[in-house]
Amino acid sequence: MSATALAIVGARGRMGHALCSFAEENGFSVVAAIDQGDDLIEGLAAAKVTIDFSARDVSPRVAARMAELGRPLVVGTTGLDAAGNAAMRAASAKIPIVFAPNFSVGVNTLFWLVRKAAAVLGEGFDVEVMEMHHNQKKDAPSGTAARLAEILCEARGLDPAKDVRHGREGLIGARTKTEIGMHALRGGDVVGDHTVFFAAQGERLEIVHRATSRDTFARGALRAARWALSQKPGLYSMEDVLGLR
Ligand code: NAD
Repeated sequence: MSATALAIVGARGRMGHALCSFAEENGFSVVAAIDQGDDLIEGLAAAKVTIDFSARDVSPRVAARMAELGRPLVVGTTGLDAAGNAAMRAASAKIPIVFAPNFSVGVNTLFWLVRKAAAVLGEGFDVEVMEMHHNQKKDAPSGTAARLAEILCEARGLDPAKDVRHGREGLIGARTKTEIGMHALRGGDVVGDHTVFFAAQGERLEIVHRATSRDTFARGALRAARWALSQKPGLYSMEDVLGLR
């Protein structure tokens, strides 16, 4: 079987390097390794599928171009604003897009476990989310932590825009029953740690995931690219790729 032509956007970045090194063993041939200064329009036309791990202002343009071309896209870029998310939704009317804040199998299982734990433990447990990443990460909280907060809000009928409390400082009073605390730590070369705390009177459950290598995200994104090739237009998550929904 001949290799599938793949374009990578953000190819010289940390994730781009990992994707390039695992592409071949996953049946892809990198026909366009695109980074700053390269021609996005021409580069993307050469590929059957594109994987984009670049920057929040770049990914909406990549999605629009892929929609014009009618070819599937995998997006790992985090920190998109409302307009960026709307651009993803608009493009997904024409092409399959797998858009996920985290492509690791372990983290997607964490999403599943957290959804279950929130349902079983109920409102008697206070919930806090803590993440830690390397000192070069530009956005906070991480896309994975934001997704965890979304899942917890869905489970409890809360609104992520109002009920998620980012950090605490000063004389702020006692914790309310409905808030979900969110804390972002930065330092060193940490690839990505996420902990969800469920704390009640007399007991505490902590669900922890630690990524020790970017390889897991790269392999997951390549798996998503293979899956996207046979999907109908739509906006999919890694949970869809893994059949966890
Ligand atoms: P990075 O800064 O190492 O790499 C980003 C690359 O994008 C850089 O090489 C940069 O030059 C390039 N870039 C910037 N503007 C561009 C443009 N106009 N055209 C083409 N390329 C351009 O960052 P990283 O650690 O590789 O992460 C990239 C993104 O992926 C971030 O948003 C990060 O949060 C996210 N990420 C997601 C996952 C996941 O599983 N979804 C995992 C790790 C990182």
